[in-house]
Amino acid sequence: MKKHNFSAGPCILPDEVLKKASDAIINFNNDNLSLIEISHRSKPFVNVIENARNLALELLGLENKGYDALFLQGGASSQFLMTAYNLLDKKAAYLNTGTWSSKAIKEASLFGDLVEVASSKKENFSYIPKKYEIPLDADYFHCTSNNTIYGTQMKSFPKTQVPLVCDMSSDIFSRQLNFSEFDLIYAGAQKNMGPAGTTLVVIKKNILGKVKRKIPSMLNYKTHIEKDSMFNTPSVFAVYVSMLTLEWLKKIGGISFIEKVNQKKSTLLYNEIDRNPLFSGIVNVEDRSHMNATFTIKNDSLAKKFDELWKEAGINGLNGHRSIGGYRASMYNALPLYSVQVLVDVMQELEKKA
Ligand SMILES: *Cc1c(COP(=O)(O)O)cnc(C)c1O
Repeated sequence: MKKHNFSAGPCILPDEVLKKASDAIINFNNDNLSLIEISHRSKPFVNVIENARNLALELLGLENKGYDALFLQGGASSQFLMTAYNLLDKKAAYLNTGTWSSKAIKEASLFGDLVEVASSKKENFSYIPKKYEIPLDADYFHCTSNNTIYGTQMKSFPKTQVPLVCDMSSDIFSRQLNFSEFDLIYAGAQKNMGPAGTTLVVIKKNILGKVKRKIPSMLNYKTHIEKDSMFNTPSVFAVYVSMLTLEWLKKIGGISFIEKVNQKKSTLLYNEIDRNPLFSGIVNVEDRSHMNATFTIKNDSLAKKFDELWKEAGINGLNGHRSIGGYRASMYNALPLYSVQVLVDVMQELEKKA
């Protein structure tokens, strides 16, 4: 039986997606060729990437609104610099809510003046700063919607005239937002959309063309928009599996449906973390992430027993990030509610045995 996969990334994917993906490796499209040995310019693959780009826009409610969806390479980490390369003329504003925000700030600072509007670093990123001002002359404001490592999530986004750029790597397609408030959204596929190897960039075309510097073709969003994400060979497998996952999401009811399931999962787990005297949550309650729940065991001497129990129950990937320790349960879209119940049962079993 498949493990209950709470891995923070690469993430769990739906069984039917894995099955279709493995079939396509042997025989794609009944053409007696593998998906990964055909030309990316062949009609069957062009259909895949077009379908993936259209599905992304459709699920986000961004069709016919001046947006383009791109499947690029280099991970979300390349977007830290690409956003700045393409958008930062003089000054940009950043909200620092964790490791990934900090990395985005470091990269962008190579391209212009950075204003860190607020940071929760002093409190080990255990909350999302709420009161801050975005300078009106900033070229854009950058934030991280979900802090995968610390387990905090932005529940609302600032209303500002400044273009909004967001790293949604670990919660894209997990909850309804007014996505048209954002001018650029990027997300590494491997958290909530597919395997590692491709990054979705959703971009409002009219924000481009405002910086004076010359931009190398590969790092220029315009290149990829003009070439329909086919300027160079795309990560065909990662794009295909992302397409299958987006098809799956559409079929089960889209973001509005999965959001309800995700709420059920996180409520089930957080209720247990708060009820069970052996555990405590790590971050500010109102900022808790519905995707990555972080918690600790109060009495260290019980950790070994707990680790044994969850491993016996077939759970995978529950260890916290090395920078904060404790536990982290990542409950991405494809994780069934049942898996969370298994974890809760293990926490209760430990309580009985302690
Ligand atoms: C994992 C992660 C990244 C880094 O993604 P890569 O694709 O490995 O570069 C960036 N931002 C967030 C929020 C993440 O969770």
